[in-house]
Amino acid sequence: AVPVALVAGLSRAAHFGVLIKGAGALETMANIRTLILDKTGTLTDGQPRIVSMDSHLGMDEDELLRLAAALEQASKHPMAQAIVAAARTRGLSLPVPSEVTEVPGEGVAGRVEGRVVLVGGHGFVSDRVERTAVEHPALAAGAVLVAVGIDGQLAGHLIMADPLRDGARDMLSSLRGQGVKRILLATGDRREVAERVTQGLGLDGIRAGLTPDQKVLLVLTEHKRGPVMMVGDGVNDAPALAAADVGVAMGARGAAASAEAADVVLLVDRIDRLGAGMEIAHGARRIAL
Ligand code: ADP
Ligand code: MG
Repeated sequence: AVPVALVAGLSRAAHFGVLIKGAGALETMANIRTLILDKTGTLTDGQPRIVSMDSHLGMDEDELLRLAAALEQASKHPMAQAIVAAARTRGLSLPVPSEVTEVPGEGVAGRVEGRVVLVGGHGFVSDRVERTAVEHPALAAGAVLVAVGIDGQLAGHLIMADPLRDGARDMLSSLRGQGVKRILLATGDRREVAERVTQGLGLDGIRAGLTPDQKVLLVLTEHKRGPVMMVGDGVNDAPALAAADVGVAMGARGAAASAEAADVVLLVDRIDRLGAGMEIAHGARRIAL
């Protein structure tokens, strides 16, 4: 039978909006050595804003946004949702895309009104269009960039701002105080962006440009040093969440696949609740032993 203290811990955590899917996960939470954090939608707000747009082929900005947003209707990525919302705010009506394929964490491709549209990271789009000379200055500056390809050409860039979540700093110091020795960032995004957004947080390392498989590999490598907690929100995080000793999903706005793969789901959209959940885990284990 599961000790009463652990059951009580599970229900206390649930009151804080931290759904822990079993006594095993609660116990392991009190033993975590390494924390691995996803960036977009986990450490950052995941409700980015379009700061500016650059159209490279002389296409009207609204038209660039309209075609990009039409395609992004098919994606659950936080960038996609922000781009669709921005287009609606401008009163643009969005046609339904067809033949859509998504590479999780990289971007989407499909057809909009007969045109071939690509939206995603700079690398994803530039690999799939005719080579162009565009070296966007914002790339080096570490801005979050979404590239748009239309009919085989790099048609433009959307420059996005995706700030740190409120409570991210508190969460990190709470977890450090509870015995977490090593904190790493694991992102599908570019290193420049990851470095800029985590500046001053005192992380122990950044792993950028990772595919979903590479996130899994990182979890398994870190596991050799001790129990690993991985926190993520996206479809691209689901395999790594499953591979971690404790996988934590940002459940409120994250992908359903990540919530299913996780051992712990944050039902409220607040990263600082992870610190509270861990305190409860420590308390419950002290009483249970
Ligand atoms: P993280 O691993 O930090 O959560 P993601 O891998 O989810 O980050 O996203 C990293 C980058 O991938 C984004 O900054 C963006 O450039 C690109 N990206 C992935 N999917 C999309 C999409 N559907 N629309 C726009 N950009 C996307
Ligand atoms: Mg993410």
